[in-house]
Amino acid sequence: MSKKKEITKAKLDFKTDWAYAPAPEDSGHISLKKQYDLFINGEFVKPNSKKYFATYNPATEQKIAEIAEADEKDVDKAVKAARKAFEKWSKLSGKERGKYIFRIARLMQERAREFAVIETMDGGKSIRESRDIDVPLAANHFFYNAGWADKLEYAFPNRNPKPLGVVGQIIPWNFPLLMAAWKIAPALAAGNTVVLKPAETTSLTALKLAELIRDSGLPNGVVNIVTGAGKTGAAIVNHPDINKIAFTGSTDVGKLIQRSISGTNKKLTLELGGKAANIIFADAAIDQAVEGIVNGIFFNQGHVCCAGSRLFVQESVADIVIRKLKDRMETLIVGDPMDKNTDIGAINSKEQLLKINEYIKIGKNEGAEIYQSSCAIPSKGNFCRPTLFLDASQSHRIVQEEIFGPVLTVQTFRTIEEVIEKANNIPYGLSAGVWTDKGSKIFNLTNKLRAGVVWANTYNKFDPASPFGGYKESGFGREGGLHGLMPYLNL
Ligand code: ADP
Repeated sequence: MSKKKEITKAKLDFKTDWAYAPAPEDSGHISLKKQYDLFINGEFVKPNSKKYFATYNPATEQKIAEIAEADEKDVDKAVKAARKAFEKWSKLSGKERGKYIFRIARLMQERAREFAVIETMDGGKSIRESRDIDVPLAANHFFYNAGWADKLEYAFPNRNPKPLGVVGQIIPWNFPLLMAAWKIAPALAAGNTVVLKPAETTSLTALKLAELIRDSGLPNGVVNIVTGAGKTGAAIVNHPDINKIAFTGSTDVGKLIQRSISGTNKKLTLELGGKAANIIFADAAIDQAVEGIVNGIFFNQGHVCCAGSRLFVQESVADIVIRKLKDRMETLIVGDPMDKNTDIGAINSKEQLLKINEYIKIGKNEGAEIYQSSCAIPSKGNFCRPTLFLDASQSHRIVQEEIFGPVLTVQTFRTIEEVIEKANNIPYGLSAGVWTDKGSKIFNLTNKLRAGVVWANTYNKFDPASPFGGYKESGFGREGGLHGLMPYLNL
């Protein structure tokens, strides 16, 4: 396609689907530094300890850059900057706050290609996903929340919405930029200021976002981004002048955080692990359901807390569903995340690959029948073949525990009651999927499945307007939509 035609197409797309269109001004320029400092009070500053750690490309095992390690003193500096900025930011009109947030969204669209490439280099996800899902959705969260900034009184009538103060936000490595957007955008729309910590294996797009925020002219100290591992996260959680913690990550760390802040006035939202049931009834459109199963578990290498990692197939169609699923798995391309034809990229880190391989061993020892696609995988880098465990049973650890990789357990069922019982018999309650031709079955199941999000005849669909969050060991509080603004407000 000629350049001119491309631009015309982009403009047309822009009219129909503004959020997903490439921004016409995208220069496509990728710039990375050798070393990244902490973003505090609107500028990049050296860490107190002078310590840096390396971030690697998980597909090539090459070092990309060095990242500053923030200690308690750095976190304190960031919290102080955020507290000072809160005095002014919280007094700005919602309309003014909204303008800044819109500007961040727009700048992100303009630099979409750069964000997508860096996300894929640092995290291992396929470029198709970074480009078509992560980055546009991240921008969309800023757009969506910008729109609420001046309408909070209408969103929560007679409840006098007021910001909480300084919020500490800790995010995981599976959707680095998107999780930063999920956290920062509603916090700012509600009038809070932020200290955010990305995960240690994927700090780069958060630091790029820091550059963008600086360029956007957002007042200094409104957003501070500190990097480091668990210790840095704990310093944020334990800082006495933080008003709220928003955490997305493992259930173990979520529980730890809950214990650390008990007895304080800090508010808390937790988005933790999951082990979703993806349920296929005999009356479902089978080919679509198979696509939904593939998307449910292999999207983002299965590094998804809401992944459809437990497949339940009604017995009468089990043979055909499994045959089609195996055929489809053979077509999946595992490899170079930077190749736009790749379906499954690199596992985020060596540690995560070890964990997944350990679960594959556990599954075999538990007696489930393993099936792996015969695709070639690169000899270097962290890769894992898409894997099924057939004849899994409810008591297996591979069924009960979150693997966070491209590994799907398969169970069959006969009746609705049986599948509801099995789907709910798990410590988690984040998401579920239901595939059927009957609307009545969908309504029945969405009421009875103990999951924060239930998708019907689709899977892994995200929208800034729809709330996301879990029950039980999947955490509490919601992100997205009006429900996602509430935890950032005193109502
Ligand atoms: P995973 O096991 O998937 O890496 P974690 O829950 O360990 O998930 O990590 C999620 C985020 O929580 C990361 O940013 C990580 O650095 C941070 N983190 C880890 N340990 C702690 C802790 N004790 N307190 C606060 N944050 C932590």
